[in-house]
Amino acid sequence: MAKETTGKRTVTSKPTTGKRATPGKRATPGRKGKGLKVYISADMEGIGGVVNWDETGREGLGDYDRARKLMAGEVNAAIEGALAAGATEILVNDSHNSMRNLIIEDLNPAARLISGSPKAMSMMEGLDGSFDAVFFVGYHARATTLGVLNHTYTGSLLEYRVNGQILGETGMNAATAGDHGVPVVLVTGDGTVCAEARALLGGVETVAVKEYIGRYAANSLHPTKSRALIKEAAERALKGLGKVKPLKARRPVRVELKFNATSLADGACLMPGVERVDDLTAAWEGSDYLQAVRAARAMISLAGRT
Ligand SMILES: [Zn+2]
Repeated sequence: MAKETTGKRTVTSKPTTGKRATPGKRATPGRKGKGLKVYISADMEGIGGVVNWDETGREGLGDYDRARKLMAGEVNAAIEGALAAGATEILVNDSHNSMRNLIIEDLNPAARLISGSPKAMSMMEGLDGSFDAVFFVGYHARATTLGVLNHTYTGSLLEYRVNGQILGETGMNAATAGDHGVPVVLVTGDGTVCAEARALLGGVETVAVKEYIGRYAANSLHPTKSRALIKEAAERALKGLGKVKPLKARRPVRVELKFNATSLADGACLMPGVERVDDLTAAWEGSDYLQAVRAARAMISLAGRT
């Protein structure tokens, strides 16, 4: 996402194999016996061809306009794959920065679009237990790992830990979906975030649209190729529903945020109930993950920037 906030570290039970799948069927029924209901959280740093912050914000001028078209192209590929698997409702949440990147008329008309910010649940706004599956498109690796444009929520967080486990935005948002009982079945981005997703979510489908050369350099597939792979993976993921269990954070939930400066941890600790763990780290503990996400975002807001 970048430039907004959330943090925490959950631990979640290991993903295991479920049994809702009907592989091989052309259309997979949703949980109400009707068509599938699919939620897509779309970020920008993990889109093929995007390698620098100035392509991901309005200050990037022409490069930003190109990048948002590339983003729409990958989101549309995921929508087309969902439709091919029998999805009848698709909700896209623009999850990057201002959350006003996707141009609605560029999207496949089968989908609805949530855009703008702030939103209470940020990158997962609009998701509830009525959905059958979640896709993460254009996601990126967590802070301090070898991924293109790696970061965790904002540039100020070094670690977001939930019950001791370091999570990136993939894990952070997968646990939100898990709290609603919904599995994340497709993640696209660079090869690093794909590996991060597979380690956390087991049988999740992944599409690596680019490979890390440096934090600001990548070797990307052509968009035509990326889109074809994303469409195929989206369809396969829905036809295999049940292979990936929802990621559940154990309760109570302890979130620890490690910032990149002591002043930020000072700010986070202004929130009542927050504990200073060490020079850079503040922690909050509560009953469930959705509350923890809100607490983490509040702490990050209070932390401000260096
Ligand atoms: Zn982003």
